[in-house]
Amino acid sequence: MTEKKNRNDNLHSELKMVLDRARRVVFFGGAGVSTASGIPDYRSKGGLYDSDDALPPEMILSHTYFMRHPDAFYDFYRTNMLHLDAQPNDAHRALAHLEARGNLSAIVTQNIDGLHQKAGSRQVFELHGSAWRNSCMSCGAPFDVRDIVAGSGVPHCTCGGIIKPDVVLYEEQLDDEVVFGAIEAIAGADVLIVGGTSLAVYPAASMVRYFEGDDLILINRDPTDYDSLATLIIRDPIDVVLRDAVMR
Ligand code: ZN
Repeated sequence: MTEKKNRNDNLHSELKMVLDRARRVVFFGGAGVSTASGIPDYRSKGGLYDSDDALPPEMILSHTYFMRHPDAFYDFYRTNMLHLDAQPNDAHRALAHLEARGNLSAIVTQNIDGLHQKAGSRQVFELHGSAWRNSCMSCGAPFDVRDIVAGSGVPHCTCGGIIKPDVVLYEEQLDDEVVFGAIEAIAGADVLIVGGTSLAVYPAASMVRYFEGDDLILINRDPTDYDSLATLIIRDPIDVVLRDAVMR
């Protein structure tokens, strides 16, 4: 079946009606939001390293691995996780527009690419941190991501400490302030859109449970465990769906 055949303009119009009357939309997004910007989802089939011989990304992107093999970590990180030239796609643009016109209160994202901010979004809770922020593990001094890209090997601070990206690695805790902010936004939302994520990764699933509004909308290629709770499910590409529902 072709993708085109699956597209359902009626569902996009239905979403548009919901969003037009909403006041506190919260968007909860994952890697699928950024694939149209050329950033591969390393967890999905056909994503990064699906067929390669290397260690699984989940292992390389763990705290233990970072501490034991920072050189190999940075090798992988620079090559696969930094997409500084990527540009926002229509999904990011539509959400920024929705916030600017007063329908959306917050974005909660699992992505570290900063594309929502690049598109103009202001209230963004980055559950897994941001590749754009980096700091020294010893003295806490901040470093620009360009410093990370420019060098080779393990980047060091002038104090001698190792510079670490402000991204939440496997085995690490999420930032409490970010989590509480996200939960507060979700609990106060009238519409929750979950897009580009299967909700399989902690803590996505648990956070959706705080939603008490009427419209739970899922925009995802594949089924999720939350499909039975959704009031609207759309399987089309998320950039197309949000462009249709917000900017048309
Ligand atoms: Zn330092």
